[in-house]
Amino acid sequence: MRVTPQRAHVWQILAESGAHLGAEEVWERARDALPGLELSTVYRALEALREANLVVESRLSEGPALFEANASSHPHLVCERCGGISHPEASPEVARGLLAALAAGSGGFEVRELHVVARGLCPECVRREEETVPVTDAS
Ligand SMILES: [Zn+2]
Ligand SMILES: [Zn+2]
Repeated sequence: MRVTPQRAHVWQILAESGAHLGAEEVWERARDALPGLELSTVYRALEALREANLVVESRLSEGPALFEANASSHPHLVCERCGGISHPEASPEVARGLLAALAAGSGGFEVRELHVVARGLCPECVRREEETVPVTDAS
């Protein structure tokens, strides 16, 4: 891959944030350092980085594609309440365990890629929900 300042900067934004960002979010953050940067340039940079295996597209749900600087396929936890995206602890081990279980149970199907999305409530939203449980009126 040819390293251009745009590509280097896009990668840096993803790597430093450790977040899952859409192209437009990357663009908004990148414009401070690279005024005049076009959104289409960000799309091309993300595509080049993806091809070079420096960035993965996390296929999480409907909505825009999200990118992150984490090249291994790994499971995601998506909160239905706040939309927060996180990784399970020891996510490489979780991914390896899932792949091994799939390989054992798929009758010879060669699994190359795995996109796992678990939906539910993040710990903060669980806590918030517990706090807002209506108190039964004693009267
Ligand atoms: Zn991720
Ligand atoms: Zn949440």
